[in-house]
Amino acid sequence: MNVKPIANFSVVSLGCARTLVDTEKMVQSLQGRGFGLVPEGHEQISILNTCSFIQSAVDETEANIVVLSERKRRGEIRYLVVAGCYPSRFKKEELKQRYPDVDIWLTTQEEDKLQVELAQLVFKKRFLPSRPVRYTKLTPSHYSYIKISEGCDNWCSFCTIPKIRGIHTSKSVEAVLEEARLQVSFGARELILIAEDTTAWGEDLFGKPSLPVLLNELVKVAGVEWIRLMYIFPPRVNAELIATIKANPKIIPYLDMPVQHANTRLLELMNRRYTGDCLRGLIRELTTEIPNLVLRTSLILGFPSETESEVEELLQFIEEYPFAHLGCFAYSEERETRSARIEPKIESDEIQRRITRVMDRQLELVVSRNRSLVGQRLMMVYEGNRVGRSYREAPDVDGRLLVVDPKGLTPGDMAEVTVLGVSELDLTVSF
Ligand code: SF4
Repeated sequence: MNVKPIANFSVVSLGCARTLVDTEKMVQSLQGRGFGLVPEGHEQISILNTCSFIQSAVDETEANIVVLSERKRRGEIRYLVVAGCYPSRFKKEELKQRYPDVDIWLTTQEEDKLQVELAQLVFKKRFLPSRPVRYTKLTPSHYSYIKISEGCDNWCSFCTIPKIRGIHTSKSVEAVLEEARLQVSFGARELILIAEDTTAWGEDLFGKPSLPVLLNELVKVAGVEWIRLMYIFPPRVNAELIATIKANPKIIPYLDMPVQHANTRLLELMNRRYTGDCLRGLIRELTTEIPNLVLRTSLILGFPSETESEVEELLQFIEEYPFAHLGCFAYSEERETRSARIEPKIESDEIQRRITRVMDRQLELVVSRNRSLVGQRLMMVYEGNRVGRSYREAPDVDGRLLVVDPKGLTPGDMAEVTVLGVSELDLTVSF
């Protein structure tokens, strides 16, 4: 029996998968108290979950707040909530003055208060009776992001996240397993482990980083076929983690390891706690030890004082070490970070020129390396619209498999395909 919602809400989730996981939890908590999720344009309450780790994300958040505030003034929505990284980064009193149409501001640490605050605002009651609801997934049902910890203690000198998201706090083994089983019950066969730094998991629980402990439990969850590791921090990758990945076929040989740069001087200025040589040694070890390993990374170009020869070193690094997927960020000066005081700054035009050089070279390298995949068989999960993924590609951020003839596959189906050719960052495949 469908129970009529007590009020309707819509959500906009900005930024990364970590915010999306938080948004899913907010939706769940509201639905559990009788609020109904509806598409934008049909809502009484609009909820914006935000990102603010660099200036461009702040700009996007503020543009969204302006649009929603105008909609509220026109009477299209009655209540406006802004949650997440943006109110965590800035002083609430200043935000309230600047955006008076926002009714509720919630930091990342306050998001579990959402339904109580909305109940108070909309119905002048603190508590609403709970209702049994079906979990609403904001990603397709066949994969799920599992956030295994919150916050970060690494304090990279350019990063605002430790300030925004607070100190690193691991979820317990039981909590992660419960979440994994719940997601499998909704149809997930691929679990994508995320955090600010997944390799820090367990440090606060066991006195040392203990991701292998968690992985050895997760592989036992019935129904899980692929476990994918994102956001690993190079100095925390050790022999135990490598052995755990090798010993468990469910942990797919794919690692997302943001390295940021390859030059030791810059890595020190970034407070990354590894040298260029350590990084090279680690990648050699990973690619030797883990058969068919696919590496994804991200780089920062234009860090203050970065020289032309250090960009050359980075280009040499991506030639020598086979990153299948690579993203480049332009350095963004954030006033509360230590790197904001490092000189000289690099002009934004020059940063864009450096990014273009690296990305152009990476495209040539990927196309040439991917040619060796032609003729190989890969297990593919079908995403719909003639697009699929193998273990080599994470959702949304990597290249894709372009399926010549999907032959009645529906999203979430798995099938073996042959690689026919290379199309820029994508591969064409067929049965
Ligand atoms: S590890 Fe990532 S989240 Fe943590 S401080 Fe460094 S860049 Fe920021």
